[in-house]
Amino acid sequence: MRSTMQNVPLLTSRLIDYAGTVYPGSEVVTWGADGPRRSSFTDVAKDCRRLANALRALGVDGDQRVGSFMWNNEEHLELYLGVPAAGAVLHTINIRLFPQQMVYVVNHAEDKVVFVDNSLAQPFAALLEHTPLVEHVVVNGPVPDEVREALAGGGRRSVHDYRTLLDAQPDTFAWPELDENDGTLMCYTSGTTGNPKGVVYSHRSNLLHATFCAGSNALGLSQSDRALAIVPLFHANAWGLAYAGMMSGASLIMPDRFLQPEPLVRMIEGERVTCGGAVPSVMTGVLDYLDAHPEADVSSFDRVIIGGSACPPALLDAFHERHGVSVLHGWGMTETSPLGTVAIAPVGAEGEEYWNYRHSQGRLALHVETRLVGADGAEQPWDGVAVGEIQVRGPWVTGSYYRDDSEEEKFEDGWLRTGDIGSLTPDGYLTISDRVKDVIKSGGEWISSIDLENALMGHPAVHEASVVGVPDTKWGERPLAIVVPVEGESPGVEELRDYLQARVARWQVPERWAFVAEVPKTSVGKFDKKALRSQYAEGTLPVVEATKTPS
Ligand code: AMP
Repeated sequence: MRSTMQNVPLLTSRLIDYAGTVYPGSEVVTWGADGPRRSSFTDVAKDCRRLANALRALGVDGDQRVGSFMWNNEEHLELYLGVPAAGAVLHTINIRLFPQQMVYVVNHAEDKVVFVDNSLAQPFAALLEHTPLVEHVVVNGPVPDEVREALAGGGRRSVHDYRTLLDAQPDTFAWPELDENDGTLMCYTSGTTGNPKGVVYSHRSNLLHATFCAGSNALGLSQSDRALAIVPLFHANAWGLAYAGMMSGASLIMPDRFLQPEPLVRMIEGERVTCGGAVPSVMTGVLDYLDAHPEADVSSFDRVIIGGSACPPALLDAFHERHGVSVLHGWGMTETSPLGTVAIAPVGAEGEEYWNYRHSQGRLALHVETRLVGADGAEQPWDGVAVGEIQVRGPWVTGSYYRDDSEEEKFEDGWLRTGDIGSLTPDGYLTISDRVKDVIKSGGEWISSIDLENALMGHPAVHEASVVGVPDTKWGERPLAIVVPVEGESPGVEELRDYLQARVARWQVPERWAFVAEVPKTSVGKFDKKALRSQYAEGTLPVVEATKTPS
């Protein structure tokens, strides 16, 4: 029997009209050097319709790609909503890629129009020489004449001002009737080799994913929330925050380029932020700032989703114990929209069991069907012990990369091979122990670099720690610990080894150590293990060897 339900497509245009109508009291706040700028959801919705008219005027009348080279601000959010609703595809360019990678993604996506923040216009102008398909550049905010000329490239491109462009348009627009499986946003993800790979989300995937993100098994958003979107709009669909916020009426606080701990804390205080999302390295900075400034009032800050790389339990515990902030650990990837799990503990869990659930990567979402595949290709049990590669499929999981079949092996019988190794409890909580390529194989046994990092970051004198496998004549590979001490502290190798020995198996404790001022990070703020391994190979890391060998 067919259902009697209406077959109405899930479209982002509906989100604009809905949020603009039912949440006139919700706002988008953009942080600026001269204080915050505010617009109601109703004004944002009007701008989205003006934007759609402006895109038509620029010749965007189908699924052409529209690039954005921007921080998190109101205008970028309007692009997130308005570009797909008009039928085009927003390509959020990661502003922290290497220049040649940025050129590659703009050309590969075939961006026709690019929107750029004035603070980023100069570096962007340098790329344009190599991106012949870009016809229009729209600048958000004023720029000096010489930058405008560089953007125009001797008349090869038209340069527009965002506000002027929109103000010339009516705030009504008849949204096209699109297929819900049409593309909305494109996000490129960098692997360790080759060019970045493009993932294209759809109206359907984005709306389903945002419903999970807003729900109480994830961030639990409502109109009484004020969400600080620290995670960049150019990283993995901004973890669904943009659409989830609009869907639930949660006001969105956009930090623009003010991503340092001090302004972030001022935003939390001044805007009475209730929740947010960020990677561990940013939240480590916020924690340090809060610890040093007990007068900061973050009493409104109830919960923050931390993911993108493993959240050290010590970070989660410190926010809970010292600042009353609940850290929701989440796991996912660009390919999975990205949320796959969020660590909300099950009802009834108490004491250590409760915290084990909270420290894990979290409970699987309904729409992220998962299997655990062992090294021999056999499915592993969900017993909390057996480890294997996490493979997933579902309506917000990508089935391929955009015009790129160089990674066909990432897909197997309709499953995405995540490249993450982990275990699952019988009730569907995931623990990630490593990336397949980062796991350390020592004398035939596997050592989890994440376990060692988490343990080390629990030491009071350790600010950050990253662990990579390095060649070893006897064991094949051994862990090398790269440690950033807390300012003013200088923990010794033997002290840290003793500390680790009480927490992990003795044979896993590293003999090689390096104390550095900073761990190199990738374009999305993760430990750059590839860079660390090559620094070790080149001999540029100050490596200290332990005096005692492991027993
Ligand atoms: P990206 O596509 O840049 O978001 O990277 C996705 C990858 O980040 C995943 O495949 C994991 O390796 C890693 N990752 C994301 N969240 C977590 C987490 N909570 N714990 C451990 N690794 C994570």
